[in-house]
Amino acid sequence: MAQVHFEKIALIGIGLIGSSLARVIRREGLAGHIAIATRSAETLKRAEELGLGDSYTTDNAEAVKGADLVIVSVPVGSSGLVAQEIAGSLKDGAIVSDVGSTKASVIAQMQPEMPANVHFIPGHPIAGTEYSGPDAGFAELFTGRWCILTPLPETNEQAIAKLAAFWEACGSRVDRMDPQHHDLVLAIVSHLPHLIAYNIVGTANDLEQVTKSEVIKYSASGFRDFTRLASSDPTMWRDVCLNNKDAILEMLGRFSEDLASLQRLIRWGDGDALFDLFTRTRAVRRGIIEAGQEVDAPDFGRQSATLSKGGERP
Ligand code: NAP
Repeated sequence: MAQVHFEKIALIGIGLIGSSLARVIRREGLAGHIAIATRSAETLKRAEELGLGDSYTTDNAEAVKGADLVIVSVPVGSSGLVAQEIAGSLKDGAIVSDVGSTKASVIAQMQPEMPANVHFIPGHPIAGTEYSGPDAGFAELFTGRWCILTPLPETNEQAIAKLAAFWEACGSRVDRMDPQHHDLVLAIVSHLPHLIAYNIVGTANDLEQVTKSEVIKYSASGFRDFTRLASSDPTMWRDVCLNNKDAILEMLGRFSEDLASLQRLIRWGDGDALFDLFTRTRAVRRGIIEAGQEVDAPDFGRQSATLSKGGERP
């Protein structure tokens, strides 16, 4: 693997993703100096207590001064504001990237603010957990997980290669994608599953014939697996829905149609069709395990994932 080192890396936002980056950057010696910026004094203080960086500020512009690499790890709805704040302080030739779960909207917000003398390369590590804040991060979060870069056509190839090498040094495998395609793919593999989880947990919570204590008591029969996704950060997921509206609506439309077909199969008692569908979907999980994106352990790998604090989702 190519050696990668930056004199100064600035991390804007020090929640789950930002603090995981801080930890892996330190562990792998990827930077001479880690500058940390976040919005609130409270989160900043916690980052300092955890010793995540070398300098700390609530002034995003201050943090990026002299940085060779800037990574913005804030909810996607705030990326435009951060871009405006840092634009005037970026070093000539700096690489500016982000980790946002949507790409076209982040590009629309950040790109117009970026000065011509920096390399803006959007990115998205497909790794995460349902937890947030600086305490939630861990250095192994990106190990074996994909990181998708969505560079704009005119972007300098050397800068892209350097950012790709950085993510590889963090343990990731790197892919490149068109931003619109990224948003469509993530709508089905991440955004729709979260919306289904939020919806089913909301439905169960509203039920009147089944008590809330029964829902909790018997949750191991399936419901519990949805509650993990449905406990994800509300700000992050509000912003994802508002910033990937078209792709999410497209996938929700398909999902609703397929759900209606499933409803019909049950009404007509079409056991063969139900069996065929469930057989087909079982093979999908096998493929995910074979691709190394899940462990084939009892309890859906949850216990081993918790033990290793291994991340499972984007
Ligand atoms: P998080 O744990 O909630 O942390 C968000 C951080 O952003 C906090 O430090 C927050 O600061 C900071 N922040 C918010 N607005 C800011 C601003 N205007 N200026 C500076 N800092 C600001 O969130 P996360 O899970 O790390 O997610 C960060 C990004 O990663 C999001 O875009 C998300 O879509 C993406 N992502 C998340 C996951 C996941 O599973 N969680 C996976 C892949 C990508 P304060 O606490 O000081 O307010």
